[in-house]
Order: sequence, then structure tokens, then C-alpha cells
Amino acid sequence: MNAADGTLGWTTVAAVTSAHPATLSSLTDGASNFDVVIVGTGMGGSAVAFRLAGQGCRVLMLERGQPPLQVATAENNTFLYSAQPLGHEFRIVGGKSKYYGAALYRFRESDFKERAVENGISPAWPIRYDDLESYYCEAEEIYRVHGASTGDPTEPWRSRPYPHDRLPHDPLVARIAARLQANGVPTAAIPRGIDYGPGGSCVLCGQCDAHYCVRDAKMDADTATLRPALAAGNVKLLYGAECLKVLVDPSGRRAEGVLVRHDGQEKRILAGQVVVSAGFPHSALLLRRSRMSIHPEGVGNASGWLGRGVAAHSTGTLFPVVGLRPLGARHTKTFAINAWADAGPDWPHPLGVAQIAGQTPFWLLTSKAKRPLVRAIGERSLHVFHMGEALPTKETGWSFDGDELGNLTPPVHRPEAYGRLRHLVRACFRELGYPVIAPRRPVEFWHETGGAIMGADPETSVTDAQGRVHGVENLHVADATVLPSASSVNTGLTIVALSLRTADAVLEAAGAQAPAARHRLRSAPQDRATADIPC
Ligand SMILES: Cc1cc2nc3c(=O)[nH]c(=O)nc-3n(C[C@H](O)[C@H](O)[C@H](O)COP(=O)(O)OP(=O)(O)OC[C@H]3O[C@@H](n4cnc5c(N)ncnc54)[C@H](O)[C@@H]3O)c2cc1C
Ligand code: SF4
Repeated sequence: MNAADGTLGWTTVAAVTSAHPATLSSLTDGASNFDVVIVGTGMGGSAVAFRLAGQGCRVLMLERGQPPLQVATAENNTFLYSAQPLGHEFRIVGGKSKYYGAALYRFRESDFKERAVENGISPAWPIRYDDLESYYCEAEEIYRVHGASTGDPTEPWRSRPYPHDRLPHDPLVARIAARLQANGVPTAAIPRGIDYGPGGSCVLCGQCDAHYCVRDAKMDADTATLRPALAAGNVKLLYGAECLKVLVDPSGRRAEGVLVRHDGQEKRILAGQVVVSAGFPHSALLLRRSRMSIHPEGVGNASGWLGRGVAAHSTGTLFPVVGLRPLGARHTKTFAINAWADAGPDWPHPLGVAQIAGQTPFWLLTSKAKRPLVRAIGERSLHVFHMGEALPTKETGWSFDGDELGNLTPPVHRPEAYGRLRHLVRACFRELGYPVIAPRRPVEFWHETGGAIMGADPETSVTDAQGRVHGVENLHVADATVLPSASSVNTGLTIVALSLRTADAVLEAAGAQAPAARHRLRSAPQDRATADIPC
């Protein structure tokens, strides 16, 4: 909202109250033409905007949430996480990434190929790692990823080194990593997207995972891509605006624009290209709500796969108690154990990875009676987050109940792999003499993907390999929902890389050539943006 007059305004996030005053009502219904409309400002949608920035096309971004500074003001760096089963709700400009842990991994080469595991199949992608490698390089540059290629046996080939050196360990974490290595357990740097180093504003504080960064030093969808895109001038953001449906012409083959609601007002906004980046599971839901006579079950749902093919990571946490006294605020999220990503001892299938997570006051989620004990453990431990791939099938995901989500069938959990990984990780720390608290909790699914999966065959997917919805020439999806599987490493960098690739397809469909590398917008430090704008 524009603070001055209460109307919805065009705005940049960096100057939320005054920039570019205009109102939704100034858009004549059905006559406001944009070259591209993007629904959602998460990692996917903002990466598309970043690529389209400065390319001479008029781009409108729609976001149902509010700018970060208006969401929680003084308390906006508080811990924000509740153990919802799947599909955490984040109504905020930048989406889930405002609270994410900034662990930015490339998927492994094997993740793109079909792989049979003990209780199912991890499906093949319609593209290979090699098709995405140059986009990974770009995504790492934009998100200022700090990493190192040593210590991770599953690290895929790369044409460029990490743009920034790995983060330094906190001294305590360094000692523990060294002891693990001396005991034969390979540890690897966690690649992290943060603005650390000379001139950077990150201070490696203890409140990164599941917190909003008050220094704007976390490289998220907002800071890394949206703000530079808005600074380029041809990209506008309308927040507090919910897209109700994608408008498709009577032939069913062309998107005409979108229907948007704000403050009870509904408007049709016309566009040459529509990109749905509403995230999991909202992109699938939006395509469902856009159904019409030619697409009776939802746009892109001729195959019945809309809402389906949902995958995730089966996750759990272990707490090696590494101190007698509280550890105090430390930046702990700097190493991972990836040795068993592809197979385990006497086990031919992928197990997953373990990461030292950031410090979070998770005891706030426990009952008042248990809280003192849980807190005492939490403050003396490393929080070791382990995760392995939970598989997609045609059954996993959401059914629809009219315009709403219906029943959820969770991804296929792999209890044997989960148990083996947990046992191995626990043993690593026990062998060093640390007691390990291993709470018995039901598995939690994180980093969910799917619902509008990409594929070569329209019978088994929603979009093609470029993210274009099958059968609709100018409608693309760019976010977590297109990923055909979740790998066992974090999904964010792959969402960004795929979305940059989809943006090139959007530009081509809009009649513009994808910009040559030298004409692409470069990553710029947040609202200090000095974008290298071509044309
Ligand atoms: C606590 C937490 C920690 C995480 N840590 C990591 C990590 O360390 N590394 C990693 O790689 N991943 C991590 N993830 C996962 C990662 O953040 C997400 O996979 C990624 O941000 C998803 O991006 P997205 O573009 O798919 O969509 P979202 O982030 O879901 O964005 C979609 C946006 O669309 C908006 N929207 C939805 N519907 C509409 C509509 N109808 N009209 C207008 N706007 C709409 C939403 O408000 C939202 O802003 C974490 C996630 C969480 C929750
Ligand atoms: S470590 Fe702290 S300062 Fe650095 S990005 Fe994370 S929250 Fe921001």
C-alpha cells in the first residue's frame, strides 16, 4: 500500500512508500498492456524479472504479499518457522527465500537421470546437468555463492570456480570439522549465498536460518534479483495483489493476461506473455483456477498431472552436545557431510546429506513444560539437519476440490535410507565422544517441489523442458513446481538456474533474442544497485 493515500502503488521494494506513485485503478480494465506479467516474487519469478530487466520489454510483477519492511517491522528478524507438513505459507515480497538458509547447491549430475532406488524411482528430467551448467554459473554469481569444490565427492563438474571463497568456520565449528576429518569423515563447505567479504554487509551472525536478515545481507529473491530488476526501470512491482486466474483465449492456446484482485477491486491485465511463479503449491492451484471449457480440469492439466509429481526432502535433526555451557551466538552453518549422498556402506542406493544448520530457537515450538530442557540441549548442541530424497509419483501431491486444494498424498518417504543415514551421522559424532540427542519425531518434508512438473512428454507432465505449459504458447511456469524431482541437496539454486533458462525462452517467445552474456543484468548490491543495463 502507498502509505500516503492508502492506494496500491507501483513501487520498488527499496523505497516502499513513495516510488512511482500510481494505482491499480489507473490501469484501465482490460487495456493495460504489458509484454510480460510475472505472478509471484519468489526465487523463480524474481530470477525471470532479473533476466528481463533492461531488455526493453514492459514487465509487471504481481505479488499477493507485502514488502518485507511492512510485514514485521521491528520484529522482522524473529524466528519464523512452524512445522507445517508441506507448503509453508510466506506472503511476502521475495517469498520463502526471505527466511531461507541460503544453502545454494547445484543438483548432482545423477539427479537429472532416472534412478531406481529401494522403494521407487527418481524420475529422469527432460534436460541434463550439462544443459543447466552455464545457468548455475550465472545463478551463483547473482547470489554471490561462497563455496569450495573440495571434500564433496558428489560435486558435479563446473566450468567456473565458485565466485567467492568458502565461508570461514567459527573456531568451535572448525575444531569439530577437523576432528571429523581426522576420524575419516569427509566434510565439505556448504555453498552459501550471502553478501560476506570485503564491502559486504554480512557479519556471520547466529540468526540466519529461518530468520529475516535485518542487514539485507542474505542473498534472497528480493535482494539478489528483484531489487536490481526494479532498478532497471522497465520492471514494475504491484504488491498486495493476488492473481485470481490466468486468462486464456477461447481457443485455449494463448494466454491473454491475468485477473488480479486488490482491496476488493478486480482488474484484467493484458500481457503478451504470462509467467506463473506463485511457488509450491500455488502455481498448480492458479492453473487449476484458470480452467475453462477447453481446459476443463485446469490449464496444462490434460495429462492429469497438475498438482502431482510432488517430491521433497525427508528430513530429521540430530543434536550432538558439544559444550557444557551454552555455545552463545555463532554462525554454525558452514559444513556438510555429503559422503553418503550416492550410496552408503553396504547400501547401493542414495542416502542423503547432513548439514550443520544455523542456530534457531526451536524450543519455542515445544510445550512450556518441556521448554527448559529442550532449550538447555539446543543451546549446547550443533543442529545437524539430515535430508534425503522423498520420491514423486503420479499419486503424490494434491487433488483439487473445485477451486481449492483437496487431499494431499505426501511424497514417497524412504524409511530404510532415512534410518541408515541418521544412524551414520549419529555415529560420526558419537565416535568423537559427543552425546547425540536424537529426538523421535515423525519425518518432516522440506524443500518441496512439483505440481507443475516439466517433461518431454505432454502425457506425463505440465510444462515442456523450457517451462512452457503444454498447449499454451505464451504461458510459462518458473519456480519450484516445475522440478521433476528434489535431489537430496537444497533446491533453491536449481530453481534460479531453471528460471533464468525459462526467461530466455520467454524472451524468445516475446520476439526478443535472449540477451548475450555481456548484455545481461549483473548482480548488484541490493538497493545500492548500479545495474549494468543494456540497450
Ligand atoms: C525456512 C526455510 C528454509 C529454507 N532454506 C533453504 C536453503 O537453505 N536453501 C535452499 O535452496 N532452499 C531453502 N528453502 C527452500 C527455498 O526457500 C524455496 O524452495 C524457494 O524459495 C521457493 O521459491 P519459489 O520461487 O518456488 O516460490 P515462493 O518462495 O513460494 O514464492 C512464491 C511467491 O508467489 C506469491 N504468490 C502465490 N500465489 C500468488 C497469487 N495468486 N498472486 C500473487 N502472488 C502469489 C507468494 O506470496 C510468494 O511470494 C527453505 C525454505 C524454508 C521455508
Ligand atoms: S549470517 Fe546474519 S548478517 Fe549474514 S546474511 Fe545471515 S542473517 Fe544476515
